[in-house]
Amino acid sequence: MDTSAHQSSRGEWDRVWINASIATMVAVDGSQGNPYGAAGQTALAVRGDRIAWIGTSDEAQAMARAHGVPVEDCGGAWMLPGLIDCHTHLIYGGSRVEEFEKRLCGVSYEEISRTGGGIQSTVTATRAADGDSLLAAATLRARRLMAEGVTTIEVKSGYGLELAAERRLLEVARELGRRLPLSVKTTYLGLHALPKESAHDRANYVDQASGPWLAALAGAGLVDAVDAFCENIAFSIAETERFLGAARSLGLPAHVHAGQLSDMGAAELAARFGALSADHLEYLSPAGAQALAAAGTVAVLLPGAYFTLRQTTPPPVPLLRHAGVALALATDCNPGTSPCTSLLLALNMGCTLFGLTPHEAIAGVTRNAARALGVQDEVGTLEVGKRADFALYRIDRPAELCYNLGANPCAGVVYGGIARLEADGPGGVRS
Ligand SMILES: [Zn+2]
Repeated sequence: MDTSAHQSSRGEWDRVWINASIATMVAVDGSQGNPYGAAGQTALAVRGDRIAWIGTSDEAQAMARAHGVPVEDCGGAWMLPGLIDCHTHLIYGGSRVEEFEKRLCGVSYEEISRTGGGIQSTVTATRAADGDSLLAAATLRARRLMAEGVTTIEVKSGYGLELAAERRLLEVARELGRRLPLSVKTTYLGLHALPKESAHDRANYVDQASGPWLAALAGAGLVDAVDAFCENIAFSIAETERFLGAARSLGLPAHVHAGQLSDMGAAELAARFGALSADHLEYLSPAGAQALAAAGTVAVLLPGAYFTLRQTTPPPVPLLRHAGVALALATDCNPGTSPCTSLLLALNMGCTLFGLTPHEAIAGVTRNAARALGVQDEVGTLEVGKRADFALYRIDRPAELCYNLGANPCAGVVYGGIARLEADGPGGVRS
């Protein structure tokens, strides 16, 4: 792209990074052989929290000398946009590790459920937890993501299932974004599960979640988007439609958990509401894929849950690809079906389990993940004017981020123009 019109004067750089292989992740038509948008550019300059310039290291060094700009030598590391985890349930009380162990020791799902296990145990623990303990546990999980180069995450509520507890989850999500060098987008997952006190009054629960609760949370500035789990074990098409309609009347964008266990037409519903994303999509018809493409709704694939549940029907990636649906990948970090705080592991699983190409997978945690959160004008690619969020990796080529199984080659992270994770040795950021 031609960025010259937006370039700041070189005397105005605050800092410049040189000797990097830059994968801008800007989508370029006909970029065969160069899908990562790395066109020999090896230097990136920052002004304030913005990317001010991208070019060659020779130019950068000459300008830095002339104007006394501090220089960081990346030592040949790869530079990518800060990664974006666009689907998490990061904040919850308790843990399900005991249940995990019991199951593997032969206790049945029915027995676990009868003794208060499953999602209801997380709801009980979350309602009992105070804000400080929720924040402490979520901070630990967020730091694990950040250590791999993640600079933006989405966080859903949905384990409170009553107004006060849902509010607490969203407040903790906002606090997480204030305390950490991390951008946090909040999602009110009003229709996640039916709390047991509402087991005989579904309609009233949906009314509350779609009416006064949504209005109160949105009015408090806690809601960037809404989400609903539309599935035969969760909420129907009609209930989801009611909730999404209420959100639309408040001007709030939507995500939809769609097609995880069956195809109920939730993808078509998401498309009809112009949702930012439809997530899971293991069960999806050609008509559903066409609807998502026409609406510009991003398909967020969640291989961690697929793996944990040992599912055998992967999302129809060739169908989505052929329809032209933008694909994203996320951890779905949650205590029951995806206790995953590694977006790099999700990259590997997206390739090995779902057949994504490494380029599709990496676009799925950068450019397309930004679209899934509606923040594509701000982050997701390395371009002049966007926020200076980027990560450095000691790898030979970008595909190595997908190839490694359980390794973390992240050597440095810059958030809003400020280095917040520095590593020693070659490839690290030296200040
Ligand atoms: Zn989820």
